[in-house]
Amino acid sequence: MNTDPTKMQPFEICSIRPPTENYSLTFRLTRNCYWNRCAFCPVYKFGARFSRRSMEEVMNDIAHARMLYDLMSERNILEHTAHDEAYQKVQHLADEIISLNPTLKLEHQEGNPRQDLDPKLEWFLSWFKDKPGIKDSLENLLIWHMSGGETCFLGDADSLILKPDFLGSVIKVAKESFPTLQRYTVYGRTRSAARSRKLSELQAYRNAGLHRVHFGLESGSDAVLKLVKKGETRTDHIEGGLKTRDAGLSVSFYLMPGLGGVDLSGEHALQTADVINRVSPDFLRLRSLQIFPQTPLEERRNKGQFVELNEHQLVSEIRLLIDSINTPTQLYSDSAVNLVQVNGLLPEEKPEMLAKLDEFLNLSQREQLIYSFKNRISAFLGQYGGLTQDIYQMIAPFLHGQDLDYGAMSNRNLKDSIRLIRSKLMP
Ligand code: SF4
Repeated sequence: MNTDPTKMQPFEICSIRPPTENYSLTFRLTRNCYWNRCAFCPVYKFGARFSRRSMEEVMNDIAHARMLYDLMSERNILEHTAHDEAYQKVQHLADEIISLNPTLKLEHQEGNPRQDLDPKLEWFLSWFKDKPGIKDSLENLLIWHMSGGETCFLGDADSLILKPDFLGSVIKVAKESFPTLQRYTVYGRTRSAARSRKLSELQAYRNAGLHRVHFGLESGSDAVLKLVKKGETRTDHIEGGLKTRDAGLSVSFYLMPGLGGVDLSGEHALQTADVINRVSPDFLRLRSLQIFPQTPLEERRNKGQFVELNEHQLVSEIRLLIDSINTPTQLYSDSAVNLVQVNGLLPEEKPEMLAKLDEFLNLSQREQLIYSFKNRISAFLGQYGGLTQDIYQMIAPFLHGQDLDYGAMSNRNLKDSIRLIRSKLMP
């Protein structure tokens, strides 16, 4: 056991991972996304380039993680049940390690936000770290430990491009180094599962210890997939999903309501439900479309080539999608960008979900605007911890102390405020 602080090195973590893996130990087997062309996706469009990592690099990362973990244990950081105290100790330990080895100091850890960025991008880039530092590594270990220490995510965007032997060796060494690990998951592209991998290779992933693949399906409609340059087809989605299930792996699909815009809304909902009914994935997760600044989709919208759904149309589309699903699956809408949160088991809980969506759809236009405003501003405060200057200025005339005078807000005021808040919400 080496706990000499002068020997400590960070390990690369996966800042982009599914919400269910927020508390997982993460190791990076590739960096970023080789596709990087989806018109709605901001994730890897800011200079982060795809690369494969060698087995040696990944093994070194696992060894560095274990050394950091041992050092944290020796310093009694892992015994703290109070989160604040543990985080403070992590900060001190990071400072100590960096003072002993100043080459580990990173620009972005010095609180140096870029002033030229849109606030949404600034927020996004504050947690998307292509080059994590020692504090990021320590925090990843801490949060994993405090959450039970059982789960591991192996990124980045498509780990199904890796040979099963590669993944198997990583899982084996990760398990030896962190014996409490029980569950290993990856992101994958359905095209990789459908076209590049034989069933026996997917089974080999399963035999190596992989449990679940998270697929960014977005849509089951070829027209929508083509529109947003997803680089996959509905056939890929069906074949990749089925093959993954047949291999004994758990399948999780991420769907993006609104992605077809006004023109393709109905087709988007129906074709997506059709793919789901054919594959019967274990989990569905809704992430309603939010158009990010500086993405190709924003450019298309600004040119009038893509017409976004309004809130009523978006909820109607989600209603059509859910109503058309007739296979057993678990649905979550666990994202701040979804207006009406519907969660539950399909098809059993479909009536309750539809009733919740209808509750919104049956409101008057004015009531819908107030519902949306309240929901959006509360989601925004949850994400950012306060209002940005532009949002504050927009609602300031209607604020009386802490309370908003909705009666004084016109429909135009409400619509403009909702549009502004939505443009800044993170998925
Ligand atoms: S495949 Fe995923 S990570 Fe890559 S560009 Fe598309 S949405 Fe982004």
